[in-house]
Amino acid sequence: MVDLRGIHKSFGTLEVLKGVTLEVEQGQVVVVLGPSGSGKSTLLRTINHLEKVDRGYVSIDGDLLGYRRVGDKLHELKEREILKQRTHIGFVFQNFNLFPHLTVLENVAEAPLSAQRKQKKEVHQEAVRLLARVGLSDKENAYPRQLSGGQQQRVAIARALALSPKLLLFDEPTSALDPELVGEVLDVIKDLASTGTTMIVVTHEIGFAREVADRVVFMDDGVIVEQGSPTTVLDHPQHPRTRAFLSKVL
Ligand code: ATP
Ligand code: MG
Repeated sequence: MVDLRGIHKSFGTLEVLKGVTLEVEQGQVVVVLGPSGSGKSTLLRTINHLEKVDRGYVSIDGDLLGYRRVGDKLHELKEREILKQRTHIGFVFQNFNLFPHLTVLENVAEAPLSAQRKQKKEVHQEAVRLLARVGLSDKENAYPRQLSGGQQQRVAIARALALSPKLLLFDEPTSALDPELVGEVLDVIKDLASTGTTMIVVTHEIGFAREVADRVVFMDDGVIVEQGSPTTVLDHPQHPRTRAFLSKVL
């Protein structure tokens, strides 16, 4: 369903992605691990064209992200068309990125109201349902600053679900949280995984990877060093770099 082929990305002279190829099937949960600076966030950002790739391509259900193929050439899509493609991809960031001036319900309703021009009543009903799903029915009218980090992140997840995305991307969704709040957010993500949501999760939560991932991918220095089932990668890593990394986080 998600197909990344030979992705290269540099910032100036710094080559951050050095040919990354990754496929994710419908309903799969892929956990990406790797040291700081290895290119994990950049990889996620290329998937929804927040970063333009230098070489390679990203496609979702056969649609190229950001480009249209004309003959053997690629033409970049217009901003409006890229925004439309992005509506199929939910993104949850480390620092929640909620709209501070909107209530919880308004945060969740914002994208469907502006992107889909749906009826307000219908959108609000859906937002209410999504907030119940992440356990925040009692917080609909609160503002983000009135919530704990774990609650804010659950709002961010509800917001990412509001456009019924085909794919959810999580970039270290629990690393900004106090330890006692990590579990409530991981539980929501686990629940989504169990209902067949396709997702790519960058996280250092090894227990979560073990329990939820169909596949674990280890990245270092802009390449995928190894990948496989959680047991293969976490318990029997083949590559010295994977072993060195795991010895630090386990
Ligand atoms: P972390 O675990 O710390 O989040 P990461 O694996 O997500 O690390 P990236 O954020 O993808 O790593 O960054 C990879 C490299 O690319 C780093 O050296 C970073 O400084 C650099 N980089 C990322 N974004 C930019 C940018 N917009 N401009 C210049 N350099 C960047
Ligand atoms: Mg990162």
